[in-house]
Amino acid sequence: MKRRDFIKAFFACLIIGHDAPEIFAKEVRKLSGHQVMDNDSYVKDYLNKMRNFNRPHPNDICLGKKDLLLLDSTVSRLKRLQRTVGYGNFHLLSVDDAIKTARTYSRIGRFPKPELEFMENIFSTDAARYGFADVKPLPGFTDKIDKRASKKVHGTGHYLYCGAPLETYQKIKKELGDNVILTSGVRGIVKQFLLFLNKTVRNNGNLSLASRSLAPPGYSFHGIGDFDVGQVNFGVANFTGRFTTTEVYHDLISMGYAQFRYPQDNMLGVRFEPWHIKLNKTVT
Ligand SMILES: [Zn+2]
Repeated sequence: MKRRDFIKAFFACLIIGHDAPEIFAKEVRKLSGHQVMDNDSYVKDYLNKMRNFNRPHPNDICLGKKDLLLLDSTVSRLKRLQRTVGYGNFHLLSVDDAIKTARTYSRIGRFPKPELEFMENIFSTDAARYGFADVKPLPGFTDKIDKRASKKVHGTGHYLYCGAPLETYQKIKKELGDNVILTSGVRGIVKQFLLFLNKTVRNNGNLSLASRSLAPPGYSFHGIGDFDVGQVNFGVANFTGRFTTTEVYHDLISMGYAQFRYPQDNMLGVRFEPWHIKLNKTVT
């Protein structure tokens, strides 16, 4: 998206936010018409927001009270579901699989109608309204991951699509050696729901803040081929700015694998993600 178009979309989003339904009922602060910033001030404010992605911003969009309760219960149910089906399998689960499995196991409990409606509402809302401006590679709520088209990568708990994603990872592994590890591969809509909503729960329902570091469900390119890599034994620091200090990061740059989906100062509403490998040829 060109900078001018993005700015247009941004202002449109604030206007829509004013008369939006319950999901946008609570904005931390609304900009009224006469408070609209000029383009340069907007870009400066935007870049500052992205560099401090984990802090709430005055124009962030948050869930309303009613949705906060549904958010809590949905995240708890998704966590019980993940524990029941196993961390690895959970990556490939579709919404239909989730509903069916939850109905089968009393320790998960079936999804009540309001939770399903809440999830559908989150899914169908244009994420640009709360600041995430990238495209939606998995546009259907019940879109499925083709399990036969992916392969579990030994010792990681993650899957990669066969073809370009798996071949690229194998090439990276061959060239960088044992130092590099797959930290996240294929993620279906249910896994992305848990990641995104869990981040939203931990930030008092702030959808904008959550979407600066996690793509909303349907919007993740992990659904069609992208993957994350890290340095062995670097733990969660692999998903922080500290990753740029590692040997793996420097090797990725020098060997030409550094085609990042979300580069520094991108205008997509997403923080810099130096660990996220963009596949030019994605799986559809
Ligand atoms: Zn990623």
